[in-house]
Order: sequence, then structure tokens, then C-alpha cells
Amino acid sequence: MVYSFDNFEFKEDIKVKVGFFHLSSCSGCQIAFLDMFDELADVLDTVEIAYSNLLTNNKEIPKINVAFVEGTFSIGFKPHIRLLKEIYQKADMIVAVGGCAAFGGIRRLNTGAQAPQPSHQASIPITEIAFLRNKIKYVIPGCPPNPNLLYKFLLALLEINEDFLRPFEFMVFSTFACGYDILTEVVNKGLCTGCGTCVSACPTRALEFSKRTQRPQFNRLFCVSCGSCLAACPQSFKPYPQPVYG
Ligand code: SF4
Ligand code: SF4
Ligand code: SF4
Repeated sequence: MVYSFDNFEFKEDIKVKVGFFHLSSCSGCQIAFLDMFDELADVLDTVEIAYSNLLTNNKEIPKINVAFVEGTFSIGFKPHIRLLKEIYQKADMIVAVGGCAAFGGIRRLNTGAQAPQPSHQASIPITEIAFLRNKIKYVIPGCPPNPNLLYKFLLALLEINEDFLRPFEFMVFSTFACGYDILTEVVNKGLCTGCGTCVSACPTRALEFSKRTQRPQFNRLFCVSCGSCLAACPQSFKPYPQPVYG
């Protein structure tokens, strides 16, 4: 099997080279990959970890197929600029992992220690960096993403399961995510079935289930903009192109 994403191809007999990179982050997203445990061992049959600040001793970034990037870009911080330029040159494809890289996440909520006065624009997600846009193919939401979701994403990427990957592709163009998405995109459109999946996906309990309305309720103060709720909701991508079966 050979498949081309524009300038990129997977081949069955060659291991896919991946790299893990972190910008302004807690490294929790990279740790979530390690939390795949047995599944990680399975994936290593077809995937080679070519670069990681936590897992490899490589000082140089080699040519890689997929760069998983976590964390936000600190505006004006030269090491981040150098790293992102190198990733752009050496990776065939970039995947933004976690709420920070995808939407700004908890880093965007930071309002302290930013002279001359607090600004929400000191940290931005990599999805907002113009020169990276044509290389960022997918966003994996979460803070951190669920290891099971990471495993399924990796399998879908290796199997070129475009139906599974489509929501991750769609989220590249969502520069902001929060629990309001659940209200505006699902509940207010009459699509909510009251299943509660978004509530259980939320890592901060910003979403609670209302027994009275049988719908999720949102508390903005607890939200870290990770995007997990919208991604987990089985109704959330109904307004967008759906897979066709049979
Ligand atoms: S998304 Fe969450 S887990 Fe991942 S780097 Fe940001 S704060 Fe850490
Ligand atoms: S409501 Fe919860 S799951 Fe949704 S974006 Fe906010 S923190 Fe993430
Ligand atoms: S996951 Fe979606 S359908 Fe289920 S309760 Fe939340 S908004 Fe409603």
C-alpha cells in the first residue's frame, strides 16, 4: 500500500519516522503517548521514534514523516522560532497535539508576568502561525489527549482511515475551543441526545450534567480550552461532511 498526502507517502515496508517536540508546555501530551503502554509496543512495529526530548538522545533533528508538536509558541522567543523553522523544513506533516498547540489551551489563559501589562497574546497555538499552516494536517484535542485517542489516531494515520481522521483535520481550522462550542454547535442546534460523553471527557469539570434539562451545563471559569468535549461528542460533527457507508 502506498498513499500520498500531497508531498508525503507511507510505505508498508518502511517504518514511519515520528518526532515529538515541545514548545511552551508541561510535556503532559508527550507523557500521554507513553501512557499507551502495550499499545505503544504494538505501534513501534511500524513507527520509529526518531526524535524526542524525553525519549531519545538525538541532538540533531533528522528528516521525519510526522512531527507531533505540543505546547504554545511564545511570541518573540527565538529558540521557539528556530525550532519551528527546523520542524517545518524536516517534517512532511505536523500534528498539533493537545489544547495548547491546537487552541492555546491553558497557556492562553495565563495573564500574569507579562510586562508591560497582561496580554492574552504572549502565547499562541501553532495553528495560528502562518508559515506552518500548510504543514499542519491534524489537531488532537485534550489536556492531555486521552492515550486511547492517541492510539486510535496513530492507527488511523497508518491505515489512512480518512473518515476517522476528518474531525481531526477539521479542527486545524478551529483556532479557539471551549465548552461554549458544545452549547453552540450541539445543544443549541438541537443535536444533543443527553448522552453525557462531553461531561466525562472534560478534564476540569467545566461541564456538568444537568438532571433537570438532561443537557450539559458549562462553567467558563474551569475551562482550559482543550477541545476534548467537542471532539468526544458523538453529535458534534453532524453539521460537517459525514462518512458515507455502503
Ligand atoms: S495541552 Fe495540557 S497536557 Fe498538553 S502541554 Fe498543554 S497543558 Fe500540558
Ligand atoms: S469544557 Fe472541558 S473539555 Fe471542553 S474545552 Fe473546556 S476544559 Fe476542555
Ligand atoms: S456529548 Fe454531545 S450529545 Fe452527548 S450530552 Fe454532550 S453535547 Fe449532548
